[in-house]
Amino acid sequence: MKVTEHIKNAKGKTLISFEILPPLKGKKIKNLYDVLDPLMEFKPPFIDVTYHREEYLYKIRPSGYYEKTSIRKRPGTVGICAAIKYRYGVDAVPHLICGGFTVEETENALIDLNYLGINNILALRGDARKFERNFVPTAGGHNYAIDMVKQLKSMNDGQYLDHSIVNGENTDFCIGVAGYPEKHFEAPNMKSDFYWLKEKIKAGADYIVTQMFFDNQKYFDFVDLCRANGINVPIIPGLKPITRAKQMTSIPRTFFIDMPDDLVDAVRQCKDQDAVKEVGIEWCIQQSKELKAKGAPCLHYYTMGNVETFRRIAATVA
Ligand code: FAD
Repeated sequence: MKVTEHIKNAKGKTLISFEILPPLKGKKIKNLYDVLDPLMEFKPPFIDVTYHREEYLYKIRPSGYYEKTSIRKRPGTVGICAAIKYRYGVDAVPHLICGGFTVEETENALIDLNYLGINNILALRGDARKFERNFVPTAGGHNYAIDMVKQLKSMNDGQYLDHSIVNGENTDFCIGVAGYPEKHFEAPNMKSDFYWLKEKIKAGADYIVTQMFFDNQKYFDFVDLCRANGINVPIIPGLKPITRAKQMTSIPRTFFIDMPDDLVDAVRQCKDQDAVKEVGIEWCIQQSKELKAKGAPCLHYYTMGNVETFRRIAATVA
């Protein structure tokens, strides 16, 4: 079922969904099931699986020169989505990224997903490669998420890259895109970032999942901004608790997100990491409760494999 249908069928009840990372290359899929099995009691209607662009590694050769090799450390997103669907009977949402793929490779991945009956996609540009300051598009690939949204929409209309294909199968992908209540870090200002978000919706996106935030007011203001500007698709809040003190500086640096004063003060008073984790979990629970009370369609938790933390949060909020 599509993410938007799950939301519609919930008739105003707030759903709970999880986002997971594929295991590191060489690890068993059981590692993933160990994360997901305990979360199934919360009956997530869908589970997102992230995608990770290849990274460059530099190996020193006997000659003393460095050799640059490219590796993908967490492959397997499509296979994992199929495994989730098969094992749990739960809809899986693969994140597809522009970086690292030509448009034809993207089309082929979408054809595989269509054959597997996986019809939800979160269409993203993707992060920059590790050790690269900026996102570098792949030759022959998309530059921005909106280009992938347009490709998905074309396939839903039965149009493939090879225009000689007539009567091509109409896929039926439900298209999600990312939204940034505190603006995307590269955007010159909120107005510009919002312009491009609106373009993604106009191009055919069906719902938005937000970047994490720690101040619910940012999400409420963002929803108000969307509604006032004719964006009426579901806006799913993405949530992640603080688990370590150093995240108080690393998260704002990486994602350009502001930390609320009360959270900063509470973490500052913690004596050790366990205390920080407790503060983070409690903050996330309170955020979740308020979002639920104010009618958020779904609470989407970025688990990062942190199963016990999310079991506690979901058990309190569900
Ligand atoms: P876009 O929508 O393409 O926007 C990127 C920037 O360009 C923005 O500043 C925007 O304002 C601007 N812009 C957009 N379109 C245009 C245009 N046509 N012309 C000029 N400027 C434009 N990353 C991963 O690598 N893997 C994941 O699995 C993953 N999952 C994510 C899940 C969620 C819910 C979120 C919020 C983010 C996720 N990311 C993931 C991170 C994401 O890939 C990065 O934030 C990336 O930098 C931007 O992706 P986007 O899809 O928002 O890009």
